[in-house]
Amino acid sequence: MAAVPKSITRLIDLLKRLPGIGPRSAERLTYHLLRMQKEDVLQLADALIAIKEEVKTCRECYNFADTELCPICSDTSRTHLQIMVVEEPLDVTALEKTMRFKGVYHVLGGVIDPIAGIGTDEIRINELVERIKKARLNDSSGDLEVIIATNPSTEGEMTAVIIRKILRKEFGEELNITRIARGLPVGGDVDYADPITLMRSLEGRTKY
Ligand SMILES: [Zn+2]
Repeated sequence: MAAVPKSITRLIDLLKRLPGIGPRSAERLTYHLLRMQKEDVLQLADALIAIKEEVKTCRECYNFADTELCPICSDTSRTHLQIMVVEEPLDVTALEKTMRFKGVYHVLGGVIDPIAGIGTDEIRINELVERIKKARLNDSSGDLEVIIATNPSTEGEMTAVIIRKILRKEFGEELNITRIARGLPVGGDVDYADPITLMRSLEGRTKY
């Protein structure tokens, strides 16, 4: 067996852990990096370090941000009376592409998945409850709307149902909760949907 330098096998092993990268792709990427200019590889390494050292989580919506409060939460032209609940930061990116939603987001950081041991305390549901309490204090109009935009997957639906139950118990029937329409293909994730499909499912949302 030909001896492969240790640093090469190390990188291949690390790349293999990434989603969508099998052993063959990991090998190809590694040998591609070996052929690249040193300057470009150093830039890539630097970018990897920067996302872990510089990216913060918005203290309001838990989306990724450069600052303590993300640009969406600090945008005073947006309404804070519409809170769209999504699974991941990538969903925010996808929904922002529709350019239709003018409210704010709440990033759960996952979905409830009993098999994987993820319950209500493992995602940001308590934070959502606290946020709604705060928003209601500032809202004399009673126009607050909570839009549940979790994916149309088994876990996404289950998470939506559980969130609704918790919010109903906490705030009663008068809280306006809506769920985005099922314009999304079954198993089609929010972050993969095209802007037009997403816009339709947003506009076709129903009382939940
Ligand atoms: Zn934010």
